[in-house]
Amino acid sequence: MPIHEQNLIRPENIVTNENLEIDGIDVSGHWSTFIESRVVTDYNEAMEDEIAALPGGEYIHRCWQCGSCTNACTVNAVNEDFNPRFWIYLIRMGMESELLRDKDIIWQCVSCNKCTYACPRDVNPEGVMKATAHWLEKKGHTPKSPSMHFDEEFSSQVIATGKIEEGRIIRGFFKRTGQPLIQDWLLEMVKRLLRGLPAKMLIHMGLANFVRPRTRNWDRARRAIEEYVEEKEAQHAEALGLNKPGPGNRGLDVDLPKQAAE
Ligand code: SF4
Ligand code: SF4
Repeated sequence: MPIHEQNLIRPENIVTNENLEIDGIDVSGHWSTFIESRVVTDYNEAMEDEIAALPGGEYIHRCWQCGSCTNACTVNAVNEDFNPRFWIYLIRMGMESELLRDKDIIWQCVSCNKCTYACPRDVNPEGVMKATAHWLEKKGHTPKSPSMHFDEEFSSQVIATGKIEEGRIIRGFFKRTGQPLIQDWLLEMVKRLLRGLPAKMLIHMGLANFVRPRTRNWDRARRAIEEYVEEKEAQHAEALGLNKPGPGNRGLDVDLPKQAAE
């Protein structure tokens, strides 16, 4: 499908000739505005398969480029450069360098899933956006996003203990992202919690900071989940060629849950 949206025409591809005459007619300046042809030589033929190998990207091959996802998209409504249909097109065509031009906004998907409901082909565009953001991180094209840090901290704690303890998750998230523990908004939230929550719950939350709660007999489940996660991580790394040495390949860098269990 042709790329027809006006905002997808790159400014550097627009050429205007100040002095141009064609068949005796002066078409200088604005009248001689041309859009230069793009020449793409660095196809990544594996890109669709790589993104399809990550969770959420499985059905990218079904896309027929109707544009319903972009039309429904919450983020596209405020930033027309955020264009799931166009990125799916680039991925399926293997146009990696074109996709990388938008690498700093792809993670902005807010997971509202409007695109998923609008899609007539069950592509799960929201999942494709997530898979693409993970692909960019795993390939070393973008740094790990705060939401990825949060997901990893959250998952690590669930796997380690079978429980969620909010205070620990916030502390772990701050540590991973280099943020100070004392922050104005956090102090305000704690003050409100102290005023609004029942005393029993506050004591429970306070104790959880010193004695880490665990689900009874969790070890067997933890080992099974760790095995599964490691197996999946290995599959993803292999699909993305992350075990092979190469330029720009920073390898598998996801924290495995065992580390957080310690
Ligand atoms: S889930 Fe993401 S891509 Fe889909 S409509 Fe919402 S913001 Fe747009
Ligand atoms: S709505 Fe579905 S089929 Fe249509 S362009 Fe988006 S992903 Fe492709």
